[in-house]
Amino acid sequence: MKHIIYRFYLFTVLFTCSYLYANAESRIKTLIVTGQNNHNWKLSHIVIKQILENSGLFSVDFAISPESGKDMSTFILDFKPYQLVILDYNGDSWPEETNKRFVEYAKQGGGIVIYHAADNAFPQWKEFNEIIALGGWGNRNESSGPWVYWENGKLVKNYSPGSGGSHGAKHEFVLTERDAKHPITKGLPKQWKHAVDEAYDRMRGPGNIKTLLYTAFADPAKNGSGREEPLIFTVKFGKARIFHTMLGHAGNSFEQNPAMQCTGFQVTLLRGCEWAATGKVTQPVPDDFPTAEKSSLRPNYKPDH
Ligand code: ZN
Repeated sequence: MKHIIYRFYLFTVLFTCSYLYANAESRIKTLIVTGQNNHNWKLSHIVIKQILENSGLFSVDFAISPESGKDMSTFILDFKPYQLVILDYNGDSWPEETNKRFVEYAKQGGGIVIYHAADNAFPQWKEFNEIIALGGWGNRNESSGPWVYWENGKLVKNYSPGSGGSHGAKHEFVLTERDAKHPITKGLPKQWKHAVDEAYDRMRGPGNIKTLLYTAFADPAKNGSGREEPLIFTVKFGKARIFHTMLGHAGNSFEQNPAMQCTGFQVTLLRGCEWAATGKVTQPVPDDFPTAEKSSLRPNYKPDH
């Protein structure tokens, strides 16, 4: 009898272990690159990890660069083991070898997410600007590419001279869907109100947007451009699947962080991440998604229920 109980015990342990192993194995292996930013990256990269891991779909590693001004030569990254690379980095140049590997990763069909101020980085790196499609600040101007915005039902490119990248005062604003069929937007409401955040505008770059997902009106009353600005889109570059969200300015603390606590930010980020990694979105539309009239927060970076 003892023998049988032991065998049963052993079977249960092995079964549980293999289940847990398989479960962990099936998660999307994700790398967040950070360590320098004019934003609170020490908060944002932890929050993004929480949002992703709370969904049960992702396992997240970090690549944290040396501090600004320090020797970057050791910051050689290996992207190959990852299905998804999220950039939360705006700082010193990476070593040439890391740049080369990143471009190769993208060309070969890697999954990439550009998050908020990551599109402020590397104004002089040609391929990087093709991977983000639109960027801002860093002395970007007409030589960086046109301003790109939504006008009369389509995306237009404006080659007039002027600086690239600005935003008005933070406020709540409405995102409008521009493609309802894409796996990322499918089933989400046509319009939703984002919690208090910066609305990036006057961004410039090659403008190789693949699918424009959402725009928002940059309200002149808040010092915005007065244009309908592309804020969430995918990018055409090699075989890569690239999701670019300009939303999610990091706040001061886990508690004071409305842009990242916004359910709309979290859900579009999660759907964009899954799509970038796999080409599909399996996540249902949650009940707490914001409406056109009312924003919605997930203060704990996961659904309440
Ligand atoms: Zn910001």
